[in-house]
Formats: sequence, structure tokens, C-alpha cells
Amino acid sequence: MTDTIFSKIINKEIPADIVYEDEKCIAFNDISPQAPTHILVIPRKGISKLSESQETDKDLLGHLMLSATQIAKKLNLDDYRLVINNGADAGQTVFHLHIHILAGRPFGWPPG
Ligand code: AMP
Repeated sequence: MTDTIFSKIINKEIPADIVYEDEKCIAFNDISPQAPTHILVIPRKGISKLSESQETDKDLLGHLMLSATQIAKKLNLDDYRLVINNGADAGQTVFHLHIHILAGRPFGWPPG
């Protein structure tokens, strides 16, 4: 996988507004928030997109989901949306796997 802007955040080469981090993942506020709360949860491991993950990433993927829910709980978010854009046509612009946590306003369905 080629380096992305998120690799630079993981390596602390560029700043980010980090809200949570542990040995497997890091979470920070989105630079262009689409809701009052908009956080990205990313693995430290370089996985370009969800569909590139392997069976061996099962624990890591679970950890990312649980971290997202724990961050939401810590921020007292009751209702929120988790989004993973997989591939350019799905809206992915940064090719380092990430979960969006969006909250603080109502969300429509289907998504645009
Ligand atoms: P996606 O379109 O699903 O790939 O989401 C990528 C997200 O990364 C977008 O919501 C961007 O606003 C966000 N983003 C890009 N660069 C940065 C950055 N330096 N710090 C925080 N968020 C960023």
C-alpha cells in the first residue's frame, strides 16, 4: 500500500486533532466535518480499503468497530452513523481504511 495523508498522521509527521489512540488504531477529528461530530477511526496498519483486508485482520476489524462505539460512548453520542467508503465510486478519497463516526444531526436514507 502506498503512503497516504493518514500514514503521516499515524507517524505524527503532520498534526491531527486526535481524540483516541491505542496500539492498533488512532482516531481524530475530520478536517472537513460533515456533521457536528465527525471522527475518523483508522488502523495503524496500512490497509488501503476494507475489501483489501484479510482473514488475519479479523481481530483488527473488530477492534476498529469496538473502538468507534467506545469513542461514541465516551462522547455521550446516542445516535450516530458509522460509514466505510470502499473504493472511489463509493466516495473513498483517502486510501487508508477508515471508519467515519458521524453524529449531531439527523441523517437521511438512502445516502447520497
Ligand atoms: P473518504 O472520502 O471516506 O476517503 O474520507 C476521507 C476523509 O478524510 C474525508 O472526510 C476528509 O475530510 C478527511 N481528511 C482528509 N485529510 C485529512 C486530514 N489531514 N485530517 C483529518 N481528516 C482528513
